Amino acid sequence: MCLDQSEITDIFAPGGKLSRGIVDYESRPQQIEFAQRVLDVLTDGGGLVIEAATGVGKSIGYLVPSVAVSLLRESPIIVSTNTKNLQEQLINKDLPVLAKIFGRGFSAAALKGRGNYLCLRKWQLLLEGKVEEATRPFVDLISSQLSRSSSGDLAETASSLSHSLWEQVASDPTTCLSVACPHATKCYWRKARRKASQANVVIVNHSLLFSDVGCERTLLPEHDTIIMDEAHNVERVATEHFGVEANGARIRKEIERLVAAGGLLASVRKKLRRRLPKVRRLGISARIQDVEGAVEELLRVTERAFSRLPELLGERDGYGTARFGGETLSLPGEFEEMSHVCSSVEDLLTVLLSSVKENSELLSDAEDLLIEIAGTAERWRTLSADIEFLWEASRPEFVYWIDQRQGGEFAVKACPVWVRDKMREHVFSHLRSLVLTSATIAVAGSLSHFTFRMGLEGAYEPRCAVVDSPFDYSRQVTVVVPRDFVDPRRAEFAPAVGQLLISLLDAAPRKTLVLFTAYDMLREVYDLISEPLERGGFEVLGQGVNGSRSELTDSFRAARRAILLGTSSFWEGIDLPGEALEQLILVRLPFSVPEDPIVQARSEALAAEGKEPFTDYLLPEAVIRLRQGFGRLIRRKTDRGAVIILDPRIVRASYGSFFANSLPAAIRPCAARELPKKISAWFGEAATMRDGMGSRTSRRKRG
Ligand code: SF4
Repeated sequence: MCLDQSEITDIFAPGGKLSRGIVDYESRPQQIEFAQRVLDVLTDGGGLVIEAATGVGKSIGYLVPSVAVSLLRESPIIVSTNTKNLQEQLINKDLPVLAKIFGRGFSAAALKGRGNYLCLRKWQLLLEGKVEEATRPFVDLISSQLSRSSSGDLAETASSLSHSLWEQVASDPTTCLSVACPHATKCYWRKARRKASQANVVIVNHSLLFSDVGCERTLLPEHDTIIMDEAHNVERVATEHFGVEANGARIRKEIERLVAAGGLLASVRKKLRRRLPKVRRLGISARIQDVEGAVEELLRVTERAFSRLPELLGERDGYGTARFGGETLSLPGEFEEMSHVCSSVEDLLTVLLSSVKENSELLSDAEDLLIEIAGTAERWRTLSADIEFLWEASRPEFVYWIDQRQGGEFAVKACPVWVRDKMREHVFSHLRSLVLTSATIAVAGSLSHFTFRMGLEGAYEPRCAVVDSPFDYSRQVTVVVPRDFVDPRRAEFAPAVGQLLISLLDAAPRKTLVLFTAYDMLREVYDLISEPLERGGFEVLGQGVNGSRSELTDSFRAARRAILLGTSSFWEGIDLPGEALEQLILVRLPFSVPEDPIVQARSEALAAEGKEPFTDYLLPEAVIRLRQGFGRLIRRKTDRGAVIILDPRIVRASYGSFFANSLPAAIRPCAARELPKKISAWFGEAATMRDGMGSRTSRRKRG
């Protein structure tokens, strides 16, 4: 099979294969350009960083060349996404279309993280034991799901009932018998991997991609080509992945898995009682008591260690951060003790393992028990090593900090300041072809900020391109900024936002999404507007007030008149086309919080390199974030709407033009008091234009 640009172009052309496979398919030059650029890199090798605006159709744009090249080279292509929504779109919508187009010989598979799949061995063990009354609903749920699901991918459903019970039966490398497992041929995880190894295109998420790196590339099928979509999230996922964290919840969870009523030690005891003569039992019981003693010691040390953290954090209002390591603070010595005690637990589990092994001929299912003990010891080794890493805080390329969450829980964390070296070493150097794509990675048309942050400059010089949107933003959207609005750093800002929203919805009662950068302000505005707007017939929905992100989105979509107030997670991934969303309010320019330890460490590192942290880091970050927020409004060619940016710095500050020049439509400044009237008038004109165009079209059709 030979592959050239014209073949790919033909697939996308009017009357081509895609137009026959997709209802309402519209051939777009932007999509063809995108697909051709992807094809070049997949065939020639090398890297491509490409921004493709909303409406280009980038998923089909990279899937078509991917399928064609993987068939030609007989080598799989990995497509990695950040969100579940996009994964589902690729698997359930886009790939079935391509399966029809490419016919037999093409196959695709989705692979999730191992913990999403049920472990049949553990499941059988659970069923063989006495199922407690409290566990019954969980068992019933899994049983009924198993009769419907052939994939064993049950984490989401099962975790909604009990996360800790799901963890007891989820597939886990530390407790897997692998080929020796009696369920190996039916094992869901092994089947999913087998299917992936035979597929042309394998859909994964960024997190699994980095887990594969951590497992010496044993999770994913052998590959030399990756397409990373939603690439603006790759750095964040990589930073988390290469980071380390110890917190009370993690330690409690390990302790619970070991010593709780249904934990490992209890099941060892139960088996001994049934199968071993008393004299042999005594020896093993003593080993169990040793482990329990070490766990008690750990509980004492952990409590002491975490109780010392508030003094390091200083007076805070229930949450905050403090960096440690280097010449700043040090963690209390109790953390070193914690690491040692965790290491003792691991040693004692290894001794217990030997004792059980010595008696294994008397225990019918000793294999299961041994693998559980060995797996548990392995997890304690990792926990000990992580705490030691945090206690030493000796790696200059890492930032270390104490984090107090809203609920009062403390965490001790570390992550690499930059991931670019790790990306080069662990990801790029192993690849023949790499495509990084997103709708928002450029700043004023340039991708240099992104390529620098990803470590793509120098050794792995990529081709770069920005493919414009097919949307006519000048006609579809109006972008308004109240130039004389209150400065967002002043206390009067939130009340002024509330007042303006009430006036705006009175004048232009459209479905409205308001994006905040901080939850405190969201809550303040919510309290100000909810009563008057509800009286006016609006449903007022607030993140953290009325439900989860998906519940809020569903309620907003279903409501006739509604306003939705959201923070960080609403700035991307929300798709509300048409009249489901017509007004978008961006409350503040989304600069990172300067107190964030990662932001601080990156700013310091840039300053040390002679760069300017504000222009080289904070500003481009905020521009990309603003563009993501902006992208919530216009999702289709037929969408119309208003974007209102309430932060007047975008027209008043010297750096404002960076934001303005990165938006796809020109900003129209106006006086704050005129804003509601202006927006209302724009919707009136837009409707008149639409009606006019509609009647011209119908006249043409009739004619
Ligand atoms: S092979 Fe491993 S994951 Fe699969 S059922 Fe057996 S123990 Fe569980």
